Amino acid sequence: MALIELSKLGGSFKMRIGDSLDDFRRYVPENTVIISDENVSSIYGHRWDGFPAIIIGAGEKIKTLDTVHAVYSQLMSYGIDRSGFVVGIGGGIVCDIAGFAASTYLRGIRFGFVPTTLLAQCDAAIGGKNGVNFEGFKNMIGTFNHPEFVLCDPKFLQTLPAIELTNGFAEVVKHALIANFHFFDWIEKNASGMMHLEPKVMTHLIERSAHIKTAVVSNDEKEKGERRKLNFGHTFGHAIEKVTGLSHGQAVSVGMSVASAISLQKGYINSKQYERIKMLLKALGLPVTMVAHRQAVIDAMFMDKKRQEDYIHFVLLKDIGSAIIEKMSLSDISGFIGRDDIF
Ligand code: ADP
Ligand code: ZN
Repeated sequence: MALIELSKLGGSFKMRIGDSLDDFRRYVPENTVIISDENVSSIYGHRWDGFPAIIIGAGEKIKTLDTVHAVYSQLMSYGIDRSGFVVGIGGGIVCDIAGFAASTYLRGIRFGFVPTTLLAQCDAAIGGKNGVNFEGFKNMIGTFNHPEFVLCDPKFLQTLPAIELTNGFAEVVKHALIANFHFFDWIEKNASGMMHLEPKVMTHLIERSAHIKTAVVSNDEKEKGERRKLNFGHTFGHAIEKVTGLSHGQAVSVGMSVASAISLQKGYINSKQYERIKMLLKALGLPVTMVAHRQAVIDAMFMDKKRQEDYIHFVLLKDIGSAIIEKMSLSDISGFIGRDDIF
């Protein structure tokens, strides 16, 4: 089992990779409530027998204040007081809802995560951001607050739908691209093992990815600078996701290809590196291009909450394994992506 620790204001966050779901019982008090979703609980619910559970629906649509409201009501009905503990067992959505509800209920009670998707294990469960969507905008309402533990069991991935696995691969490639050439190289060599969920490969993948995210976050917990690099591929990605309905990972993959193409045009990376990035995304079953209404994507991009003025903090690659942030205006970006509707 690998253990990653991140010290943070007022305590420390521990991530355990390779533990089994059953181990969460060792880290929680008696008055613990489980929050999970209907899919995860139908497969794994018997593993938390004996604990009261709050089961939410599945899918991005339920990541709302209404769901949080329902969670507060159930926490009250279970008599959870300030000594209570919440464990979120599920994908990124469950972690978001559980983390946000626990951080705000009675001004904050203790919580931990058992992420069950690759995306949550490599990305969403780490970093201390918890939040919900509001009036059509992603993650508009939320808190910065770390769970006490994140327990990663790679065996969960065996029941994960293929598309959810692919979504996780996109974030893993993102971590390699912005921070570590050797990891990128390793992913190229192990793409087939990843597609086949080889246990050793998956454990290493989660560990490396979690290390990169933890390192970036610990340098910049409140997203003032360095942490913005984690938005690589996401400025376009979120807009594409909103306009086309592609999955998050697919949209981010196209977004990373677009950001790599801009990096190429600026002369930061060369065409060999650019082709290598696209090849790897394709090898992992991710799209690198798509057709969408150009103006709709640009409009959606400039509506993003991270917009501060008339420019965007756009993440580009200096190299495979090294990112930089540049302020780009709407017209700069439009100039780079051309005039047609193919991204
Ligand atoms: P993400 O982690 O990508 O944000 P979600 O929380 O939306 O994703 O989870 C993606 C979908 O996969 C949801 O429908 C969820 O119920 C389901 N799911 C999560 N973990 C598992 C698992 N281990 N096995 C099967 N389905 C799962
Ligand atoms: Zn993402």
